[in-house]
Amino acid sequence: MIQRERILQAFLDLVAIDSPSGEEDAIAADLERRLSELGLEAWQDSAGNVLARLPGEGEPLLLSAHMDTVEPGRGIKPVWDGDDIIRSDGSTILGADNKGGCAVILEVIQSVLEDGASHRPVEVAISRGEEVGLVGASKMDYSSLSSKVAVVIDSGGPPSSIQGQAPFHYVYDIDITGRSAHAGLEPEKGVPAVTIGAEIAAGLPQGRFDYETTGNVGRIEGGLVRNAVPDKCVIQGEMRSMDQLKVEDLVSRARSHVEQVKRNHPEASIEADFRTAYPGYRLTEDDPAARLLYPVLRELGMEPDPQPVGGGTDGNVFRGQGIAGIVIGRGGYNQHTKDEYLVVPEMVDCARVVEAAVLRT
Ligand SMILES: [Zn+2]
Repeated sequence: MIQRERILQAFLDLVAIDSPSGEEDAIAADLERRLSELGLEAWQDSAGNVLARLPGEGEPLLLSAHMDTVEPGRGIKPVWDGDDIIRSDGSTILGADNKGGCAVILEVIQSVLEDGASHRPVEVAISRGEEVGLVGASKMDYSSLSSKVAVVIDSGGPPSSIQGQAPFHYVYDIDITGRSAHAGLEPEKGVPAVTIGAEIAAGLPQGRFDYETTGNVGRIEGGLVRNAVPDKCVIQGEMRSMDQLKVEDLVSRARSHVEQVKRNHPEASIEADFRTAYPGYRLTEDDPAARLLYPVLRELGMEPDPQPVGGGTDGNVFRGQGIAGIVIGRGGYNQHTKDEYLVVPEMVDCARVVEAAVLRT
């Protein structure tokens, strides 16, 4: 049975281990140890993600969370009101995003094992670097995972709060190489990469195009000194939409703009790399993950509440790997702020939902 005191303690223990993105070694070792002590085969893949598996009967189910947290997230001192709410002391985030998800996974496994009921094979994937661009999930060793459905425990709100739609996300890097020259003595010998970069940036998709489609030129950098024609410029940006066709249309407009600037400046070398950061998805009732989770939620008296989100999670990366990920709430609020707090009964409910999914053979 899911035990409130135990999951609460695990949460407080995990929060006490600093794990800002990029500095996850200590938390990874702790999670790997905890999973091993529960009797699972646990290891870290080459990207440092903690993976584990527990044999069972039927179709395997992947349980996923991320171990890194955003800043300010060092020396977190959780303040528990002795009842239902845990906050930070106001000087840091709390880290319910996503130590809450990690605690849920540990509690579910412990509960399932001690109850001794038959259950599905469970695979665990706790990623690094989620908050800085889904880094761990992108480099995860998928060859060791066989699940076709994943429960990604990484949303705010109660477990019925589900990420129902996520955008298709494209990113680009554009490198402009011109030619440097002394700006006062022989500027005509130069090819000004910064000015050409500005011409490119000015024509790239920027801002909101409709309610579900956006573009951003996020970074431009070039040149070294005031008195030299700059020979380098780099531009980085992104485009996203809930609708794949809309974002692909933006990408092709961006590409043809870059081609036009190339024709305007044959003396410069312009390399543009447009690529998918992660695929989007729209969760329908007959999606394999919804078919598993929706009935479980309803049996426990919760009505699934799928809502669109503007950002990506590891669930998007899983979708790109052919694993139907469903992202559910684990009781966190005001995520990524010093006002972040956790509603303990909602984290407990989340564990009950995930446990029921694991027991559904
Ligand atoms: Zn998160």
